[in-house]
Amino acid sequence: MLLGGGILTGAAIAPKAASAKPYPYLNRAAWGARAPLLGGVAHNPARIVLHHTATPINMARSLASKLRGLQRFSQSDAPLADGRMKAAWIDLPYHYYVGWDGTVGEARDPLLRADTNTAYDPTGALQVCLEGNFEIEWPTVLQIASLEVLVAELTARFGITAPIVTHKELTLTQCPGQNFDVALARLRGNPVPSGDPLQPSVRLPEG
Ligand SMILES: [Zn+2]
Repeated sequence: MLLGGGILTGAAIAPKAASAKPYPYLNRAAWGARAPLLGGVAHNPARIVLHHTATPINMARSLASKLRGLQRFSQSDAPLADGRMKAAWIDLPYHYYVGWDGTVGEARDPLLRADTNTAYDPTGALQVCLEGNFEIEWPTVLQIASLEVLVAELTARFGITAPIVTHKELTLTQCPGQNFDVALARLRGNPVPSGDPLQPSVRLPEG
């Protein structure tokens, strides 16, 4: 669980130093998370649901800053993109956030049920969100590499047997976007369509 007193700032953090995870990892203390609000509902994780942020990949802003911003939005009464107002949630709506460079951010406690703007029951679902708008751009190879390891880790940790699903398979939404379909096929172990390779949507830094 979250401990108070996180005073670190994004620029000072080396994500790989945060843990021995098999992917770059930024835990809550490392990104400067505030404590969750009261009122969280416990659940037993039994499946994994995938999302995109629906906002374009932003290479200029640190993951820590993005997570702090998402938490500020989540924990307040705030307008949604479609103009509706949401009430404050206890914490980020997702359990894990995979940045464009493959760094996994620790979000909500996986043992607490998520929140959603859309009409489906999130009970029992581990919510994994990838940065990007995959209606108009592609997930990066680094994101998919981390996602595959994260999914395997969560599947083993929680004894998940249900097939992985996307948000749009559960309710009326485009999330996580049409360009996620190839990555989804890979995650499910299905043949990837030829001529439609997974490819990075952005130029990655050299080295
Ligand atoms: Zn979604």
